[in-house]
Amino acid sequence: MKKVVFLVLAAIAASAFADRPKYVFLFIGDGMSVPQRMTADEFSRKSGGGPLAMNAMPFSAMTRTCSSDSLVTDSAAAATAMACGVKTKNHYAGVDPEGKPLVSSAAAAKKAGVKVGILTTVTITHATPAGFYAHRKNRGDTYGITLDLADSGFDFFAGGGLDVNPKNALKHKQYEACGDACEYVRSKGYKIVETKDRFLSLKPGDGKVLAMFANGSLDAAIDADGSQPTLSEMVAKAIEMLDGDNGFFIMAEGGKIDWSGHGNDSATNLRDILALDEAVKTAIAFQEKHPDDTLIVVTGDHETGGMSMGFAGTGYALYLELLSNQTMSVSKFGDKVTAAFKANPNLSFDDVKPIISKAFGFKFEGDAKKDKMVLSAEDIKGLVKAFEHDIEFYRAKIEENSKYDGVKRYLLGGECRLVMSHKCGIGWSCGSHTAMPVLSTSKGRCAEKFSGSLDNTDIAKAMKAFYE
Ligand SMILES: [Zn+2]
Repeated sequence: MKKVVFLVLAAIAASAFADRPKYVFLFIGDGMSVPQRMTADEFSRKSGGGPLAMNAMPFSAMTRTCSSDSLVTDSAAAATAMACGVKTKNHYAGVDPEGKPLVSSAAAAKKAGVKVGILTTVTITHATPAGFYAHRKNRGDTYGITLDLADSGFDFFAGGGLDVNPKNALKHKQYEACGDACEYVRSKGYKIVETKDRFLSLKPGDGKVLAMFANGSLDAAIDADGSQPTLSEMVAKAIEMLDGDNGFFIMAEGGKIDWSGHGNDSATNLRDILALDEAVKTAIAFQEKHPDDTLIVVTGDHETGGMSMGFAGTGYALYLELLSNQTMSVSKFGDKVTAAFKANPNLSFDDVKPIISKAFGFKFEGDAKKDKMVLSAEDIKGLVKAFEHDIEFYRAKIEENSKYDGVKRYLLGGECRLVMSHKCGIGWSCGSHTAMPVLSTSKGRCAEKFSGSLDNTDIAKAMKAFYE
């Protein structure tokens, strides 16, 4: 009799996952379309790392990204489409075009008893993660989004900070200061973890967790100094914390790919894609242990920057390996130059040459025909012009009542990143998003549902159907 009961229970347990994967990983590269994925792929092949794991998956789909009010989506509308299955207006997160709250795949999973983890390298209240748990008509309402995070009841959040804007906090009368947002999160039973050490020592059974390792976003992968966990480490910890009888749903976002896309910073862009690929590999290692139960989907929310693999200057060639010479993001380089201005407002171009060389690997002397990192006279002219503008702009900022009427932002980093992209043969057409479709790839249980030609809403529809 006991044996019969056991067999019946075993059959019920097996049937619970008969038509759905027990474990779901959804990876989203923000601003990651085909050129971003393939630039990182070709770079990886050239440097001996082989093709990206995310590109070597057996199923793929061209995926349409538009929002309800524009062919060019923003991240909030795209996340809502991929999470909830409904096209909405740009800037709306987790609500339809009328502002009505929507149910996300993550929320459906949670309702079905599945554990849910939301991970990102930007702020945890940013548009992409918010699409999975929040219901706001304004993606900038990070205070309201924080309240939604706490109310979601999801098991595990990790990434950058809450980025709560005090102006938004004031709109919610009961919580008037940033600190109160954290208080609200705690009141809903979350343990808040703020250091990598504490994060890595978390154990299953520690309850609901909100881990945030910075006030704003995490460092770009190219600038990482080891003080914050990588996305791959976050995925590994999420697996450890969420594994159990009912399985898990994990959304992990490479959020800063988009930022370097906006900044047309090729090397920083590809390093963040490689970091996302490391996280995908962690999921694949898990999938290989649970091949019949695990689904992995990797996609992007939209393209950023109008990136192209080819540029007028390099003809029928690309020199992606040159990107390995860049050692920091353009944004960090900018910080270093302004720090140098601060230390000496009478700095000359010669003084910043070593900073440029260290950041980008450019050489100011040598034979440009033999060594591609040697700057041409034309390149140097452009850098000097940008430097002269920047030092004047810096001095104007420290002089009171300045009548400075030039471009009111620093230009040298932008000039360096253009020289770098053009040496490699990478073109950028804009600093915003584009309507280019993205590539979705998938592997494991039910992966075939994410192949062919997809709309971004199809990703949510297929995932929600697992839990209905
Ligand atoms: Zn963006």
